[in-house]
Amino acid sequence: MSLKKYNQKRNFNKTKEPKGKKEESSKRLKFCVQHHLASHDHYDFRLEFKGVMKSWAIPKGPSYNHKDKRLAVQVEDHPLSYRNFEGIIPEGEYGGGTVMLWDRGTYKLLEVNKDSFKFTLYGKRLKGNWVLVNIKDNNWLLIKEEDKYANFIDIKKYTKSIKSNLTMKEIKTKFSK
Ligand code: MN
Repeated sequence: MSLKKYNQKRNFNKTKEPKGKKEESSKRLKFCVQHHLASHDHYDFRLEFKGVMKSWAIPKGPSYNHKDKRLAVQVEDHPLSYRNFEGIIPEGEYGGGTVMLWDRGTYKLLEVNKDSFKFTLYGKRLKGNWVLVNIKDNNWLLIKEEDKYANFIDIKKYTKSIKSNLTMKEIKTKFSK
C-alpha cells in the first residue's frame, strides 16, 4: 500500500490535510466518513486496511435502506490520521472545499476478496453490516445488509459534525479565519 498518489495530488504548504506517511495501525480497525462539499457534494467513506485508509467517494452518501445501491468511486488511499481531519481545503487545491467529520468508529472485517468487502460498522451513525462490491474499474456499490439496523434512519438527518457539532457553514467560517 502506498500513499504516493495521495502526496502527489497535494501541496502541503497550502492544505492543512495530514501528510501521507506510514503510521502505526491500532488493534481495532478504524473507519470514518467525511461529508465533503467540494466541486461536487459527496461523502468520503474510508476503511483502515493494511496501514492506510482505503477510500471511496459516495455522491449520495450511505443509505440505511437495504434496497439502495450507492455508487462509491474508489479514490487514492489516504493516511490513517486522515480519519480525524475536519476543516477546509483551500480553493484551487485538490478537493478544495469544506470537510466535515461526519462519522467515525471501528469496524470488523467479515469477508474480503478482490471485488468485495463485507464488514460490520461500529460508528456513532453508521452501524450494522454493510458490503462494498466492485462493479467495474473504480466503481463500487455500497449496500446495507438486511439486519436489525436496516432502515434505521435517514442519514440526511445528520447535518452536524460528530467531532465539533458544527454545520458545514460553521466549519467554513471557523477555518476561513
Ligand atoms: Mn472527497
